[in-house]
Amino acid sequence: MAVIRKEPSRSVSEFSIRDLAVLPAFIPKDLTHDKIELSTAITKYSRNSEAKIKLSRFLISADMQAVTGPEMAIGMAREGCLGVIFCSQSIESQAEMVKKVKRYKAGFVSPEVISPESSLEFLIQRMQETGYSKFFVTEDGEPHGKFIGLITDNDFDPDVHLGMKVRDRLISPKEMYIAYDDEIGYDISRAIKKIAESHYPTMPILFRDGRLRDVVFRKDIKQLKINPFESLDSRKRYLVGASINTHDYKERVPALVGAGADILFISTSHGYTDFVKETLEYIKNNFDVPIVGGNIVTKEGFEFLVSNGADAVKVGMGIGSICITTEKIGMGRGQASALIEITEARNEYFKKTGVYIPIIADGGIRTPKDMIVALALGADAIMAGRYVVGTDASPNPVDYKRTPPSKPYWGEGSNRAREWMKRRYYHSDFEEGVEGWVDYIGPLKPYLHQTFIIVKDGMRKSGSTSINELQQKSILEILSDKALKEAGVDIVIERKKSN
Ligand code: IMP
Repeated sequence: MAVIRKEPSRSVSEFSIRDLAVLPAFIPKDLTHDKIELSTAITKYSRNSEAKIKLSRFLISADMQAVTGPEMAIGMAREGCLGVIFCSQSIESQAEMVKKVKRYKAGFVSPEVISPESSLEFLIQRMQETGYSKFFVTEDGEPHGKFIGLITDNDFDPDVHLGMKVRDRLISPKEMYIAYDDEIGYDISRAIKKIAESHYPTMPILFRDGRLRDVVFRKDIKQLKINPFESLDSRKRYLVGASINTHDYKERVPALVGAGADILFISTSHGYTDFVKETLEYIKNNFDVPIVGGNIVTKEGFEFLVSNGADAVKVGMGIGSICITTEKIGMGRGQASALIEITEARNEYFKKTGVYIPIIADGGIRTPKDMIVALALGADAIMAGRYVVGTDASPNPVDYKRTPPSKPYWGEGSNRAREWMKRRYYHSDFEEGVEGWVDYIGPLKPYLHQTFIIVKDGMRKSGSTSINELQQKSILEILSDKALKEAGVDIVIERKKSN
C-alpha cells in the first residue's frame, strides 16, 4: 500500500489530490514506456474469479448530459477507456444511446435523420448543433422511417439554395450504393466486402420494405483496424456503461440491460443511503450486470456498499469542478483523504475475504498529474467530466464566438440538468452544480494519447510498470503551501508591454 508521509509538511487532516506529490524512485534502464501497462479492472475479482469488466486504460467519462452521449462513449471505448451514458433523461432516450454505442462497434451506425419537408435553414441548424455533415432522409424524419435519400453539406449552397427544402437537394437512393438487411445481417465482414466493391463513402442498409436500418461508413471501417486498445465485449462490440438513479430503477435497469449496457453506475452524490441499498438489492436479485455503487467518501460508506453487493465503488463528494455541494451544505471531503481511508478499507477487505473491490476516483481531476496521484493513492480507475468535456466527443458544439472557443459544461445538479427531473420526481429547491464554459480542446484521440504518455512517464519515474505497482510502491508527500508554490511556474521574464 502507498505510504503517506504526513510530517513534517503540515498537520491538517484533509488532503486534496493537489496537496500531494509522488516521490521519484530509481528507474532501471529497461523500464521504458512500452513496458508500462495502464490496464485495470473496474469490477470485483478474487483469486478464483476474474473481473467481468477490464479496461486497457483507466479513464471513464462521467455520466453527465454535457459529457457522455454515444459519441463520447464510442470515442472512449475506442481508446480502451469507458463512457457512462447519463441517466438524467428519459429511459427511452438513454436506452437508445446505449444501443447506438453497441451497434457502432459492429460498424453499423444509427445516423442522424431528417424529414424531406424540413427547410435547409433547419438542416444547417441541425448540422451546427450536432457537428454532423451527413443527414439521412426518411419520409417521417424518424430513425427507421422509409428511406428517401441522403443530404450532405456539399449538396447545397446556403447563399444559392436558401428557402428550399431538404427534398429539393437530396441525393436519391438510385444514386447511392445500398445494401439490405437480409444480405448483410449484423456481420461486419460482409458489409466491409460489399462497401469495398463500391466507390461510395457511405452504404445505407435498408429493410426489404424500404425502411432505413442503419449505415456503414467507409471511414469507420478503417478505424476498426487501427485501434489496438479498444474496450470490447465478448461479441466484439464496444463496452458502454450507463448510470441509473434510485427512483425509477425498476423500469430503467431492464431497459438499459436490454439495450446492452455492460455495467451500471448508481448516480448519486451521497451513496450511503437506504435508497442505494434497495437499488443494489433489486439489481443483484434480478440481473447479472455489474453495478458500481457510490458516491462515498468514508470507510463506513465503503463497507455499506460492498455488503450490499456493489462490484466497485465510486469515491468523491464535493470536489467536482462544477460542484457546489460543499459550499451549499457543508458536506464533502478532500479527495486524497477519502481515497486514503477507502483504500485502507478496501485492502483490509481483500485480506479478509480475498475479494478485491476496485475504487473509481470521481471528480476534481484537472491534469494527468492529478490522475497519477489518485492512482498512487489507491484508485484503480478515474472518472472525469471536466477533463474530457472540451473535446470534440462531448455532445455540444463548439462556440467559436467565444475567445478562446469554448464548449458548455454544467453539473448534473444544476438547474439546467435538473429540468427533466423536476417534471418527474423532485421538487428539489436548490442547485448543487453550476453551469459554465471550458476551453475547446479538439479531437479526443490525440488528447488521450498525450494524457497517457504523461501518466506513463509519471509511473516510470516512480519505478512502476502497472497501476497495481504504482499503488503498492508509491511514496507520497504532502506539499506545504510553499512547496506547492515552488512546484508551480514562475514568471522568469517579465512580458514587455506593447505600445
Ligand atoms: P469533474 O471531473 O471535476 O468535472 O467532476 C465530475 C464529477 O462531478 C461527476 O462525475 C460527478 O460525480 C460530479 N458531479 C456532476 N454534476 C455535479 C453537480 O451538479 N454537483 C456536484 N457534483 C457533480
